[in-house]
Amino acid sequence: MDDLSEHIEKLRTEYRRIFIETVKLLEAEVLSFRPENFSGEIFEYYENNSAGRVWQNSVLNYLRSVYYPQIIELQAEINDMRKKYSCSGCGACCKLAVSEFSPAELKQKAQNGDKFAKQFIQIFIPYETIEEVKTIYPEYLKLLSEQKETGYYFYHCPKVTDDNRCPDYENRPQICRDFPDNSAAFLPLTCGYCDWKERTELLYLKLTAMSEVASFYLENLNKLHK
Ligand code: SF4
Ligand code: SF4
Repeated sequence: MDDLSEHIEKLRTEYRRIFIETVKLLEAEVLSFRPENFSGEIFEYYENNSAGRVWQNSVLNYLRSVYYPQIIELQAEINDMRKKYSCSGCGACCKLAVSEFSPAELKQKAQNGDKFAKQFIQIFIPYETIEEVKTIYPEYLKLLSEQKETGYYFYHCPKVTDDNRCPDYENRPQICRDFPDNSAAFLPLTCGYCDWKERTELLYLKLTAMSEVASFYLENLNKLHK
Protein backbone atom coordinates (compact mmCIF):
# COMPACT_ATOMS: atom_id res chain seq x y z
CA MET A 1 0.00 0.00 0.00
CA ASP A 2 1.42 3.40 -0.88
CA ASP A 3 1.13 6.55 1.26
CA LEU A 4 -2.08 7.83 -0.37
CA SER A 5 -3.86 4.48 0.00
CA GLU A 6 -2.73 4.14 3.59
CA HIS A 7 -3.95 7.62 4.30
CA ILE A 8 -7.43 6.84 2.90
CA GLU A 9 -7.64 3.65 4.94
CA LYS A 10 -6.60 5.54 8.07
CA LEU A 11 -9.20 8.21 7.33
CA ARG A 12 -11.97 5.62 6.92
CA THR A 13 -11.03 3.90 10.20
CA GLU A 14 -10.86 7.24 11.96
CA TYR A 15 -14.26 8.26 10.58
CA ARG A 16 -15.86 5.01 11.79
CA ARG A 17 -14.44 5.61 15.27
CA ILE A 18 -15.58 9.24 15.34
CA PHE A 19 -19.02 8.34 13.99
CA ILE A 20 -19.65 5.67 16.65
CA GLU A 21 -18.46 8.04 19.38
CA THR A 22 -20.75 10.80 18.03
CA VAL A 23 -23.77 8.48 17.93
CA LYS A 24 -23.16 7.43 21.55
CA LEU A 25 -22.78 11.02 22.74
CA LEU A 26 -25.98 12.17 21.07
CA GLU A 27 -27.87 9.10 22.31
CA ALA A 28 -26.83 9.99 25.85
CA GLU A 29 -28.05 13.59 25.37
CA VAL A 30 -31.35 12.35 23.94
CA LEU A 31 -31.85 10.03 26.92
CA SER A 32 -31.09 12.85 29.33
CA PHE A 33 -34.28 14.60 28.11
CA ARG A 34 -36.51 11.55 28.59
CA PRO A 35 -39.13 12.18 31.29
CA GLU A 36 -38.71 10.21 34.51
CA ASN A 37 -40.58 6.89 34.69
CA PHE A 38 -41.11 6.95 30.92
CA SER A 39 -39.73 3.99 29.05
CA GLY A 40 -40.75 4.55 25.40
CA GLU A 41 -38.34 4.87 22.49
CA ILE A 42 -37.50 8.17 20.80
CA PHE A 43 -38.64 7.15 17.31
CA GLU A 44 -42.16 6.03 18.24
CA TYR A 45 -45.37 7.91 17.47
CA TYR A 46 -46.79 9.76 20.49
CA GLU A 47 -49.96 11.86 20.78
CA ASN A 48 -49.79 15.62 21.24
CA ASN A 49 -49.01 16.70 24.83
CA SER A 50 -48.07 13.15 25.86
CA ALA A 51 -44.82 12.55 27.75
CA GLY A 52 -43.32 10.98 24.66
CA ARG A 53 -44.17 13.98 22.49
CA VAL A 54 -42.78 16.38 25.09
CA TRP A 55 -39.55 14.37 25.04
CA GLN A 56 -39.36 14.45 21.24
CA ASN A 57 -39.96 18.21 21.21
CA SER A 58 -37.18 18.71 23.77
CA VAL A 59 -34.83 16.73 21.55
CA LEU A 60 -35.81 18.75 18.47
CA ASN A 61 -35.29 21.94 20.40
CA TYR A 62 -31.89 20.73 21.61
CA LEU A 63 -30.84 19.85 18.07
CA ARG A 64 -31.87 23.23 16.70
CA SER A 65 -30.70 25.48 19.49
CA VAL A 66 -27.59 23.68 20.78
CA TYR A 67 -26.36 20.90 18.50
CA TYR A 68 -26.55 22.64 15.12
CA PRO A 69 -24.89 25.81 16.47
CA GLN A 70 -22.02 23.55 17.65
CA ILE A 71 -21.71 22.22 14.09
CA ILE A 72 -21.69 25.78 12.71
CA GLU A 73 -18.99 26.72 15.23
CA LEU A 74 -16.81 23.80 14.13
CA GLN A 75 -17.23 24.83 10.51
CA ALA A 76 -16.24 28.40 11.38
CA GLU A 77 -13.12 27.12 13.19
CA ILE A 78 -12.09 25.15 10.10
CA ASN A 79 -12.82 28.13 7.82
CA ASP A 80 -10.86 30.52 10.02
CA MET A 81 -7.88 28.18 9.95
CA ARG A 82 -8.13 28.02 6.14
CA LYS A 83 -7.72 31.78 5.92
CA LYS A 84 -4.15 31.38 7.21
CA TYR A 85 -3.21 29.50 4.03
CA SER A 86 -3.31 30.38 0.39
CA CYS A 87 -3.09 28.90 -3.06
CA SER A 88 0.51 28.42 -4.14
CA GLY A 89 -0.56 28.48 -7.79
CA CYS A 90 0.65 24.97 -8.60
CA GLY A 91 -2.20 24.55 -11.12
CA ALA A 92 -2.93 20.94 -10.11
CA CYS A 93 -6.62 21.53 -9.39
CA CYS A 94 -6.97 23.39 -12.70
CA LYS A 95 -5.41 20.47 -14.56
CA LEU A 96 -7.42 17.77 -12.83
CA ALA A 97 -10.93 18.06 -11.47
CA VAL A 98 -12.65 14.77 -10.62
CA SER A 99 -16.41 14.32 -10.60
CA GLU A 100 -18.75 11.38 -10.14
CA PHE A 101 -20.93 12.98 -12.82
CA SER A 102 -20.51 12.66 -16.58
CA PRO A 103 -20.56 15.78 -18.79
CA ALA A 104 -24.19 15.02 -19.79
CA GLU A 105 -25.22 14.59 -16.14
CA LEU A 106 -23.53 17.84 -15.16
CA LYS A 107 -25.30 19.63 -17.99
CA GLN A 108 -28.63 18.24 -16.82
CA LYS A 109 -27.91 19.26 -13.23
CA ALA A 110 -26.99 22.76 -14.40
CA GLN A 111 -30.24 23.00 -16.36
CA ASN A 112 -32.08 21.95 -13.21
CA GLY A 113 -30.59 24.89 -11.35
CA ASP A 114 -27.56 23.32 -9.63
CA LYS A 115 -25.24 26.32 -9.26
CA PHE A 116 -22.07 24.28 -8.70
CA ALA A 117 -22.70 22.19 -11.83
CA LYS A 118 -23.42 25.36 -13.80
CA GLN A 119 -20.08 26.91 -12.84
CA PHE A 120 -18.23 23.62 -13.25
CA ILE A 121 -19.27 23.14 -16.88
CA GLN A 122 -18.45 26.75 -17.63
CA ILE A 123 -14.85 26.14 -16.48
CA PHE A 124 -13.95 22.51 -17.05
CA ILE A 125 -13.97 20.26 -20.07
CA PRO A 126 -13.54 16.47 -20.00
CA TYR A 127 -10.22 14.79 -20.73
CA GLU A 128 -10.24 12.89 -24.01
CA THR A 129 -8.32 9.88 -22.70
CA ILE A 130 -7.24 8.42 -19.38
CA GLU A 131 -3.62 8.47 -20.63
CA GLU A 132 -3.69 12.27 -20.49
CA VAL A 133 -4.88 12.11 -16.87
CA LYS A 134 -2.07 9.73 -15.92
CA THR A 135 0.53 12.31 -16.80
CA ILE A 136 -1.03 14.87 -14.42
CA TYR A 137 -1.73 12.92 -11.25
CA PRO A 138 -0.69 9.25 -11.52
CA GLU A 139 -0.92 8.64 -7.75
CA TYR A 140 -4.59 9.59 -7.76
CA LEU A 141 -5.49 7.20 -10.55
CA LYS A 142 -3.52 4.43 -8.85
CA LEU A 143 -5.45 5.08 -5.67
CA LEU A 144 -8.83 4.89 -7.41
CA SER A 145 -7.92 1.59 -9.03
CA GLU A 146 -6.53 0.16 -5.75
CA GLN A 147 -9.71 1.16 -3.92
CA LYS A 148 -11.69 -0.35 -6.82
CA GLU A 149 -13.41 3.04 -7.14
CA THR A 150 -15.04 3.40 -10.53
CA GLY A 151 -17.43 5.75 -12.25
CA TYR A 152 -15.33 8.89 -12.00
CA TYR A 153 -14.95 11.46 -14.75
CA PHE A 154 -11.87 13.60 -15.24
CA TYR A 155 -11.90 17.22 -16.31
CA HIS A 156 -9.49 20.08 -16.84
CA CYS A 157 -9.60 23.78 -17.41
CA PRO A 158 -8.37 24.71 -20.88
CA LYS A 159 -7.37 28.17 -19.66
CA VAL A 160 -4.51 27.15 -17.38
CA THR A 161 -1.19 28.20 -18.89
CA ASP A 162 1.84 25.97 -19.52
CA ASP A 163 3.50 27.42 -16.44
CA ASN A 164 0.44 26.45 -14.33
CA ARG A 165 -1.02 29.92 -14.05
CA CYS A 166 -4.59 31.11 -14.26
CA PRO A 167 -4.65 33.81 -16.95
CA ASP A 168 -7.15 35.82 -14.89
CA TYR A 169 -6.32 34.76 -11.36
CA GLU A 170 -7.76 37.87 -9.65
CA ASN A 171 -11.13 37.26 -11.29
CA ARG A 172 -11.18 33.47 -11.12
CA PRO A 173 -14.62 31.86 -10.57
CA GLN A 174 -15.94 31.16 -7.09
CA ILE A 175 -15.48 27.38 -7.25
CA CYS A 176 -11.79 27.93 -8.07
CA ARG A 177 -11.49 30.22 -5.03
CA ASP A 178 -13.27 27.69 -2.84
CA PHE A 179 -10.99 24.77 -3.68
CA PRO A 180 -10.29 22.88 -1.46
CA ASP A 181 -13.69 23.30 0.16
CA ASN A 182 -13.22 20.57 2.75
CA SER A 183 -10.22 19.22 4.56
CA ALA A 184 -10.96 15.58 3.76
CA ALA A 185 -10.50 16.25 0.01
CA PHE A 186 -7.59 14.63 -1.83
CA LEU A 187 -4.94 17.27 -2.33
CA PRO A 188 -1.90 17.14 -4.54
CA LEU A 189 1.30 17.41 -2.49
CA THR A 190 2.01 20.72 -4.21
CA CYS A 191 -1.16 22.33 -2.87
CA GLY A 192 -0.72 25.29 -0.55
CA TYR A 193 -3.55 23.96 1.65
CA CYS A 194 -1.92 20.62 2.58
CA ASP A 195 -0.97 21.83 6.05
CA TRP A 196 -4.50 23.16 6.62
CA LYS A 197 -5.86 19.78 5.57
CA GLU A 198 -3.57 17.98 8.00
CA ARG A 199 -4.50 20.29 10.87
CA THR A 200 -8.27 20.23 10.34
CA GLU A 201 -9.02 16.82 8.86
CA LEU A 202 -10.16 15.28 12.16
CA LEU A 203 -12.29 18.31 12.96
CA TYR A 204 -13.91 17.96 9.55
CA LEU A 205 -14.64 14.27 10.19
CA LYS A 206 -16.22 15.20 13.52
CA LEU A 207 -18.30 17.88 11.81
CA THR A 208 -19.45 15.42 9.13
CA ALA A 209 -20.38 12.78 11.72
CA MET A 210 -22.30 15.33 13.82
CA SER A 211 -24.19 16.58 10.74
CA GLU A 212 -25.11 13.05 9.66
CA VAL A 213 -26.32 11.96 13.08
CA ALA A 214 -28.26 15.20 13.67
CA SER A 215 -29.95 14.93 10.25
CA PHE A 216 -30.95 11.37 11.05
CA TYR A 217 -32.68 12.45 14.27
CA LEU A 218 -34.24 15.52 12.68
CA GLU A 219 -35.63 13.71 9.64
CA ASN A 220 -37.02 10.78 11.60
CA LEU A 221 -38.58 12.92 14.32
CA ASN A 222 -40.13 15.28 11.78
CA LYS A 223 -41.54 12.31 9.84
CA LEU A 224 -43.39 11.15 12.97
CA HIS A 225 -44.89 14.60 13.50
CA LYS A 226 -46.21 15.02 9.95
S1 SF4 B 1 -10.35 29.48 -14.26
FE1 SF4 B 1 -8.25 29.80 -13.56
S2 SF4 B 1 -8.22 29.08 -11.43
FE2 SF4 B 1 -10.07 28.28 -12.38
S3 SF4 B 1 -9.50 26.26 -13.10
FE3 SF4 B 1 -9.19 27.68 -14.83
S4 SF4 B 1 -7.07 28.30 -14.70
FE4 SF4 B 1 -7.61 27.38 -12.73
S1 SF4 C 1 -3.97 22.52 -6.01
FE1 SF4 C 1 -3.98 24.00 -4.31
S2 SF4 C 1 -2.13 25.30 -4.60
FE2 SF4 C 1 -2.51 24.17 -6.50
S3 SF4 C 1 -3.70 25.63 -7.75
FE3 SF4 C 1 -5.16 24.31 -6.68
S4 SF4 C 1 -5.67 25.41 -4.77
FE4 SF4 C 1 -3.81 26.35 -5.63
